[in-house]
Amino acid sequence: MPDAPLRYKKILLKVSGEVLMGDQGFGIDTATLERTAEDIAEVVKTGVELCLVIGGGNIFRGISLAGRGMERASADYMGMLATVMNALALQGALEKIGVYTRVQSAIPMEAVCEPYIRRRALRHLEKGRVVIFAAGIGNPFFTTDTTGALRAAEMGCDALFKGTSVDGVYTADPKKDPTAERYQTLSYQEVLAKDLRVMDASAISLMRDNQIPIVVFSIRERGNFLKVLRGEGVYTTIA
Ligand code: UDP
Repeated sequence: MPDAPLRYKKILLKVSGEVLMGDQGFGIDTATLERTAEDIAEVVKTGVELCLVIGGGNIFRGISLAGRGMERASADYMGMLATVMNALALQGALEKIGVYTRVQSAIPMEAVCEPYIRRRALRHLEKGRVVIFAAGIGNPFFTTDTTGALRAAEMGCDALFKGTSVDGVYTADPKKDPTAERYQTLSYQEVLAKDLRVMDASAISLMRDNQIPIVVFSIRERGNFLKVLRGEGVYTTIA
């Protein structure tokens, strides 16, 4: 049977930092990192233009130190630096299996990676390179979910994929409530009105204003990214 057609041509994948830690409580699990890279490589091979935003929650979240008395802005800068570490780890894993990548940081770090330059990022995508956006949007008080939404809009993506450890959006936390049910589709407005916390409200409203659908799926399952891109398997679409 021929493969189902791809649903989108240009996408941004947001990966939470937590995904990279696998079953450990902190940092980067190399087996998980390699598996994630293989899933990404599989999608790149189809010719889809792909860019990535990676979170930092596996290393550091600004709000956690801010809660213990540190100035929020400084704590958030530490969080943004954590995302740069994850971006470099993912870049390494992707290049090892033959995927061309560029890391662009919203906080310039020229000895480490390129600065974020929108037009240059677009050119990389045209050439088939995976662009990894690091350091969030470069400002405190934001998250990498909002970064994912912003870059998806800037790059002209047709969808924002959110790869998490849960296979979609549920009525309640499926890890805590066995009666929780998964939504197949949701409107942006429903997500906001029901306060479903799949992404922060600023990310959802940015996607609503730009009419870019959000696809929430589990990136923990090998091969799932491509499957979902073909419209197969389990996921939730917000549109
Ligand atoms: N962060 C920030 N501005 C941004 C993006 C991220 O200040 O534009 C900081 C913030 O402290 C956040 C941390 O970086 O907690 C890590 O990002 P996030 O919590 O979004 O990572 P994830 O939950 O996706 O792993």
